[in-house]
Amino acid sequence: MSIDILPWHTETLRELLSRRERLPHALLIYGRQGIGKVEFARALAQSLLCEAPDQGVACGQCPACHWFSEHNHPDFRELVPEALAEEDTDGEEIADPDAKEKKKSREIKIEQVRNIADFMTLSTHRDGFRVLLVHPAETMNLAAANALLKTLEEPPPRTAILLVTDSIGRLLATIKSRCQRILVPAPDESTALAWLTAQGAADVEVALAAAGGAPLDAIAFADAEYQSQRRQFVQTLADTNADYLATAQAFEKADLVNVVTWLQTWVSDLALSRLTGQVRHHRDQKAALSRLATRLSLPALFRYESQLRQARRSIHHPLNARLLLEQLLISYAQAIR
Ligand SMILES: [Zn+2]
Repeated sequence: MSIDILPWHTETLRELLSRRERLPHALLIYGRQGIGKVEFARALAQSLLCEAPDQGVACGQCPACHWFSEHNHPDFRELVPEALAEEDTDGEEIADPDAKEKKKSREIKIEQVRNIADFMTLSTHRDGFRVLLVHPAETMNLAAANALLKTLEEPPPRTAILLVTDSIGRLLATIKSRCQRILVPAPDESTALAWLTAQGAADVEVALAAAGGAPLDAIAFADAEYQSQRRQFVQTLADTNADYLATAQAFEKADLVNVVTWLQTWVSDLALSRLTGQVRHHRDQKAALSRLATRLSLPALFRYESQLRQARRSIHHPLNARLLLEQLLISYAQAIR
């Protein structure tokens, strides 16, 4: 019995694995956010390292598969930004409370690339492939990218370097030119809905729509508490007489990334509703969106959208969450007036 693979990945994965002996040494795995590109890359890595693959795909049973699932395979490494490595610990408590306060880097740094020099050059432990996974590849800073470039130019034999990115445009051209590009397909709606249902998710249609069709993002949206917060917030956006100062106060402790995402997707739904009569994200608010959309000015809405994009950039370190929300909501009220 081989490992579980996301159903919309199977074909691309099998095709790649069917030419494992002729695989280019560097693959640039790209595609839409939230469709499981890192999961795809890990399934590929495990399958390359597996010692008894089943039609190319990792068996899930052999020693190599066992070490891989324990994050212990000696011929596999992942390079991620420090901040992401912390999130990857599945919510385990951090023993040192001060460690939480210290700002973790959101970039992949050159020291991290240097630290894997031995891994990349010494012979492998299991006499098979050596696999390096880098994600999100666009978070490599310039020095790190240039250091990795040296390895890409002169790769050791039987080595697969997997770079995963949501934003292929942000990678150095020199990096891109050394990699073969692999587009990970997004699932169609019925495949995504079936998969979400199989995961035991609630409100799958609303959740998938809220995630813009990206099933792995939709898992977070399928959480009942998240949905009730979202509904409460967007209902105030639908109400032209809402007390926005009270809303800012009520949501100042909420996850700001979520709140700004709701504002951005709401604005995008308003524009879409005005232009086509459809909505994409907040389908449960279609009537309210359409009511607002008929009376608003699109240029004002687009100016507001660019303000939201700016706010998003500083969102990880706002000086004052309530003040930021107040400003965004007051501007919203002006934009839809
Ligand atoms: Zn195996």
